[in-house]
Parts: sequence; structure tokens; C-alpha cells
Amino acid sequence: MSKILIRGAKVLGGEAQDVLIDGETIAEVGQDLSAEGAQVIEAGGQVLLPGLVDLHTHLREPGREDSETVLTGTRAAASGGYTAVFAMANTFPVADTAGVVEQVWRLGKESGYCDVQPIGAVTVGLEGKQLSELGAMHDSAARVTVFSDDGKCVDDAVIMRRALEYVKAFGGVVAQHAQEPRLTEGAQMNEGVVSAELGLGGWPAVAEESIIARDVLLAEHVGSRVHICHLSTAGSVEIVRWAKSRGIDVTAEVTPHHLLLTEELVRSYNAVYKVNPPLRTERDVLALREALADGTIDIVATDHAPHPHEDKDCEWAAAAMGMVGLETALSVVQQTMVETGLLDWAGVAERMSFAPARIGSLENHGRPVSAGEPANLTLVDTSYRGVVDPAHFASRSRNTPYEGRELPGRVTHTFLRGRATVVDGKLA
Ligand SMILES: [Zn+2]
Repeated sequence: MSKILIRGAKVLGGEAQDVLIDGETIAEVGQDLSAEGAQVIEAGGQVLLPGLVDLHTHLREPGREDSETVLTGTRAAASGGYTAVFAMANTFPVADTAGVVEQVWRLGKESGYCDVQPIGAVTVGLEGKQLSELGAMHDSAARVTVFSDDGKCVDDAVIMRRALEYVKAFGGVVAQHAQEPRLTEGAQMNEGVVSAELGLGGWPAVAEESIIARDVLLAEHVGSRVHICHLSTAGSVEIVRWAKSRGIDVTAEVTPHHLLLTEELVRSYNAVYKVNPPLRTERDVLALREALADGTIDIVATDHAPHPHEDKDCEWAAAAMGMVGLETALSVVQQTMVETGLLDWAGVAERMSFAPARIGSLENHGRPVSAGEPANLTLVDTSYRGVVDPAHFASRSRNTPYEGRELPGRVTHTFLRGRATVVDGKLA
């Protein structure tokens, strides 16, 4: 059994301590632990977090291996400090059967860089018409508990109701991509002053907010649990806050890019800023940060959406929507939430590890950094400052909105069940 001693790490940003890993487990946490028989990593005051968990990743395999594979996506995840990711269902074929989710789950097992938990499609082919085999996917080896048509909205209220009723039986959750389709036909960016000036089709806030309002009421009516993907507007925050105050079982996520970037960037016509839901206004960004701080928004999820060069480096209207995010998420959260004083590192651990694991019913991730727990850990040099260079990404795709931007923090080590997947900032 291999032993690793992490010496002098600020566990969740607290007092510096030593953490001894023995095999796949944390053996001891305390002061001045013996290094006998152990490989020593001098943390030197770096912050130690539970391994991050991403509830919203597009790994693209099967079907779009030109943009990402389970292997390259999990390498990107490990680089960003993640030990588990949930893989969205909008692959080719769609992950709407036990066969496809088991395939993704098996590929995750083989990758070794982080655990992959498949998400099942709510409807057959993401077409919104007929429920897919939710029960069979749950009963499969992949043990699916999160279901989503992400990329598309489950816009039919009856289908959404049935899905909520169905997953309730086994404690599952429906993760909704809230986008009223008729209100967003031809949408290219946030609807507002900037879209009017640029002459681009608008994606109005109400298209998101109306679906969220409907779905929290459906969840209440059915007595089921709903999760809202990538909140992007101040109005969405108000609705979720109201729903929670009413006792409705709703959780919500925000992406790093919606915590930092605004629609003003669209003026560049650089399609790297094209994303769904779109970048919004400064007012929305500030409301989202505040909601993440006060717990109205439960988690940060990346919506890591890799696209090959040819699908992004083209005119705005023709470009694909989405940004990669796994390798920069923690840095963006450090800048927007920690360095602004809105969250401490324990708060980051809650929103990027503990809570996403709970929502997705993952048992061995999002666990406390204490003796007897699985050694899924991330060590972060929070004093680091560096310019984002996508040439160094582990992801197969390079569509980051942060190229050339200085961001704080760097993941120096990631441990998956005691095995280092990242050492000194490099994949092991
Ligand atoms: Zn989405």
C-alpha cells in the first residue's frame, strides 16, 4: 500500500495541517504527522479541497470524438481539480437507453482520470415527445439518477410532469435546460440594448424565467425534485429564491462564465463568446454571484462544451454555442467569489464538491477531508497568477473565452482514490 503525506495544507482554507493518504483512503488529518514510509508532498500553505464534482459536462463521446472523448474530457477534468463529472446525454447516439449510458460509464472506468457518471436523456432522442427508459437506465450498471435533455428544454408540461413523477420513485432528479423554444427562435445573444444595436436575434430573459417558474410549480405539485441548469438572469434567481422559501425541492447551478462575463463581449463578434444561455448583463452577473453566496444557487457547474475549431472560428450566426470550462472553473470562482469576499474556501468546497455530489447522489465524492474518507482531493496554489493559454489544455478543444486573460489559482495536485492524477500542475 502506498502512503502519501501532504504536509502543511490549509484544509478547506483553514489552519495548515498534514493529511496522510494510505492506499485509497485518508488515514489521518492532524499536526506533525509521521512521514515514515510515505512519499511527502510539501503543500506550503496551499488550499486542500475535496475533489471537485461537475454536475454538467459534455464529454461528446459517443459521436463527436473530434471535439472531445471521455479520455480527453476526464484529463481536462483532472487538470481542473475534478474527481467526478456527470456526462450530459446529448451524444450521438443520445444517451437515452441503458446500453448507451453503460457504454459511457465503461469508458469512464477505463479512462482512470476521474469518475464519470452518465446522465440519461429525459426523452427519446431529446425530441421532447416520449419519455426514455428512465427506470432501465437507473437499474443499469451506470445507476443513473440525473436525467436531462440539456441542449434542449423539456418544454411540454405533461412530459415534464411525467418525468418528475417517474424519477420520484427512485430518488432521481430532472435537470432542466430552461429555454422556452418559441421565445428563442433565431436567438443569437441576450435580448436587450446590445442585441438591438448589433442586429442579432435576441434570447429574452423571460424565456428562461417562464420555464423555471413552471417547473418549480410542477415539482411542488408532484412532490418531486427538480434541478435547474445554468441560471443566467437576475429574474431566475428571484424565482428560485421564492420557490425555496416556499419549501419546493429545487436546486440550481450557475456556470463560471455567467459569474464573470457579460454580453458586452459580443460586440467583438468573436464566436468564442457565443453560448447558451447567452452572456447577460452586469446586473445579472452581480445577482448570480450574490445568489451563489447566499445559497439560492446551490452549485457551480461548468457546462463544459467543447467544439472543434471549425465550428467556432466562423461568423457569429453560424457558430456553435458553448465554451470549454473544466480547466478554468476553479480559477474563475476564485476571482469572482473568493477574491471579492463573497465566499471562503469552505464555501467553494460546498458549491463545487459537497452539494453537486449530493444532488447527483454520488456516494464516494463530495466527502469531508477527514480520516476514513476516500482520498479524492484537490490541492490548489491560490497565490498563483497566470495567463490562460489554451495550447496547454488537456481538452481536445480550445474554445475558451479566457484566452490571454490573467486568472488566479492553479491546481497543483489532484488525487483520485489516493492516486495522483495531477502532479505539480501536470497530468500524471
Ligand atoms: Zn444547457
